[in-house]
Amino acid sequence: MKNWNVKGRKVIVRVDFNVPIKNGIITDSTRIIKSLETLKFLLDKGARCIIMSHLGRPLKERLPDGSIDFGKFSLKPVAEKLSELLGSKIYFAPDCGGSDTLKIISELKDGEAVLCENTRFQTEEEKGDANWAELLSGLGDYFVNDAFGAAHREHATTATIARFFDKDHRSFGFLMEAEVENGLRVLRGAEKPFIAILGGAKVSDKILLIENLMSTANQIIIGGGMAYTFLAAQGFKIGNSLCETEKLDLALELLVRAQSRSVDIVLPVDSVAADAFNAEANTIITDDQNIPNNYLGLDIGPKSRQLFAEKIKNSKTIIWNGPMGVFEFDRFAEGTKAVAQATLEATRNGAFSLIGGGDSAAAANKFGLADQFSFVSTGGGAMLELLEGKILPGVEAIMS
Ligand code: AMP
Repeated sequence: MKNWNVKGRKVIVRVDFNVPIKNGIITDSTRIIKSLETLKFLLDKGARCIIMSHLGRPLKERLPDGSIDFGKFSLKPVAEKLSELLGSKIYFAPDCGGSDTLKIISELKDGEAVLCENTRFQTEEEKGDANWAELLSGLGDYFVNDAFGAAHREHATTATIARFFDKDHRSFGFLMEAEVENGLRVLRGAEKPFIAILGGAKVSDKILLIENLMSTANQIIIGGGMAYTFLAAQGFKIGNSLCETEKLDLALELLVRAQSRSVDIVLPVDSVAADAFNAEANTIITDDQNIPNNYLGLDIGPKSRQLFAEKIKNSKTIIWNGPMGVFEFDRFAEGTKAVAQATLEATRNGAFSLIGGGDSAAAANKFGLADQFSFVSTGGGAMLELLEGKILPGVEAIMS
């Protein structure tokens, strides 16, 4: 993309503007802000940009009578926000690739852009429909994919469309390039000691990640709700804590496999346990891994915080995916905060830290620390799949 001469040329830019919108107001513009570098670069060079994005799942979240709430899923407020952030007018086409889009494109001047309506209003998008993708590809001379958050989807505008452009006319945008480079950096060239911090609710969501990390990481910290399945599998009492009983055998197997590969799996040694799942519940700090009957572990305890922090601070590469507790309630946020702070300290001392999107990024934002890590991913599911070692269709379509 950096070498293209795009003055007066039409460039299709697929971005991920899947931002939270409440009553027409965008509540978090991070994803729009992250696209600005690519858009500014192309517009400053005199390109005519045709911007495409999805928003939510309009065809899947239908109203009770089966109809689609087009207003709720419209990208119109995003066009307004983008105009404001870029400081120049962004046209809005109320369709994607239809007569409205064609008319606006025909009137675009050099350095101007149009944002098309939600790609997912078309049934063809999620099917990865080749005919529609080919039709859309005809709108532009070049194709740029900057939608890392949707790179794990084999959709018409995320993957299929790229195949209608030759190698010299398709490219990653700056955000997508940074996401892929940083993800691959930890998988392929991580400086050791390499520690992975995994948390969140479910073991089942992270099995492939744990398996793939075992081939590269030296240590894997497991906290959050998922830790209790591992503790239960080893015979500790976990009270009413989260437990995936059908995953107990697998949890044991993963622990044995890790040991045979000399990967140190680090589990909590104590917990903050509560007698109910709410912010006002009575809490205790357990002496060890066991949780009394009628209590549930909602955060790692002080000894675990210290143990995890020490290991993190001694690492040179850190990836973090998932909170250590129910950080949405302040009383159960200390574990997540301690891990965030230790990761920051290690980063300041020269370690490379990658925050793997989703809830850990939300937690880092909540503590006001997000901009201080080496890299915070914008793509929850996409970064998870990249770290699992999967080939992402959106990445492959550009690189192949
Ligand atoms: P995930 O989407 O799998 O990364 O899970 C994130 C969610 O896990 C957050 O909403 C946390 O509140 C929740 N969580 C973290 N620790 C626990 C825990 N010990 N018990 C229940 N939920 C938890």
